[in-house]
Amino acid sequence: MGKLSSVFSLRHFLVLSLALNVALISRVVYEGENWREEQIRALMADASEKSAHVSISSPSPPSPSPSTSSSMAVTSTEIKDDGERVINLDHGDPTMYERFWQQMGDITTIVISGWQSMSYFSDVKNLCWFLEPEFAKQIIRLHKIVGNAVTDNYYIVVGTGSTQLFQAALYALSPPNASEPMSVVSAAPFYSSYPSVTDFLKSGLYKWAGDANNFNKDGPYIELVTSPNNPDGSIRQPVVNRSGENLVHDFAYYWPQYTPISSPADHDLMLFTVSKATGHAGMRLGWALVKDKEVAKKMTSFIELNTIGVSKDSQQRAAKILQVISDSYEPVGNPKQSGSFFHFSHSMMEERWKALRSAAKQSGLFSLPEFPSSFCNFLGQAFGSQPAFAWLKCEGGIEDCGNFLKKHKILARNGKHFGASPEYVRVSMLDRDESFNLFTKRLSSLHLSQSKDHEEESP
Ligand code: PMP
Repeated sequence: MGKLSSVFSLRHFLVLSLALNVALISRVVYEGENWREEQIRALMADASEKSAHVSISSPSPPSPSPSTSSSMAVTSTEIKDDGERVINLDHGDPTMYERFWQQMGDITTIVISGWQSMSYFSDVKNLCWFLEPEFAKQIIRLHKIVGNAVTDNYYIVVGTGSTQLFQAALYALSPPNASEPMSVVSAAPFYSSYPSVTDFLKSGLYKWAGDANNFNKDGPYIELVTSPNNPDGSIRQPVVNRSGENLVHDFAYYWPQYTPISSPADHDLMLFTVSKATGHAGMRLGWALVKDKEVAKKMTSFIELNTIGVSKDSQQRAAKILQVISDSYEPVGNPKQSGSFFHFSHSMMEERWKALRSAAKQSGLFSLPEFPSSFCNFLGQAFGSQPAFAWLKCEGGIEDCGNFLKKHKILARNGKHFGASPEYVRVSMLDRDESFNLFTKRLSSLHLSQSKDHEEESP
């Protein structure tokens, strides 16, 4: 009897699952491309819906469904702020992009079965044997579409985030038998992780040597050129320019949502990351484009000894994400372009920078860098950079901007971590809508009287 009922329920289960699958397949067949275009249209409509309200009474997790997500363009006057909620914009966590990907639905979903991705190896014929061929293909395709980097005659090395590739690059560029460690420099304000990552293991091969503007030691050196720069968004060139230079170009932010794409970059060693390109920081994936074969080989050896390769699952997932982005731009002139990732994220950053500048003006206590407008070959329009971080300066005699904001429950990274003055802070522009809107609201309400109170409290 027990056996009979279990067979019966198994049969029921199979029939039910067959019915569900048929329903699903017919939905895909009938709705197919229309469904996708509708999603993109809805996404853009949501983005331009200026009067939506957000609930900000408690920190909220990512919206479970696209329809409940808030608009990016909420005006600060609509938000109620009791000044109590801590707004943490210290990290550059790119959660802003969640909404786009939520609304793209299942188009980016991949399924990896238990028996797949088991081997260590991805492509034994490739110099970087742990690089998934499909990921490599989509990297090249995306660079060609966006026009931000040359890929012909480059080796691709994949890493667990560009953070691992940065360390691999230091290892590969430092001579193995030098009498002293190679100096590693970057012009201040520089990305705050460079000094700590460089010196973490007290390597005998390389050593952090500080602000490139003050570097005057003879001999070979490595200069990190971050463009657009973290934290201040500036477009950069090397500053030392001496014989013995080894350049690492960190292009984490050389994407059209942040800055005009003026030409394809073609430097010796260029680092990219999905963290800031598509917002998938949790995948922990970056790639290096390397001209020199021996350098690419040494970087590969570093990753081999460090982590025996890079997650295949992540690479497959990233390949799909990049493919979906590229598909929305091909063929060229495809009407779906207006709802595609870079168009969407570009307009989102534009709105956010407008809101931030207006909040800073209303307050009168802060200043922000200005960025000259230039032509973006990819978007076909001119605009000024709209960086992933705001390099905010406290005016009105506030000496420690980080401390001042902290008193108002806004957490941002102090300028001193970037080799700069504590009058500056770095604020992430990539947080979720609720945090960002609350931030601009609170910033606009800070006035000179509060700065005086602050100074009196300080010893
Ligand atoms: N370089 C720069 C300039 C960055 O801002 C970041 C991320 N904050 C990284 C590298 C590290 O990126 P990943 O998440 O790929 O390790």
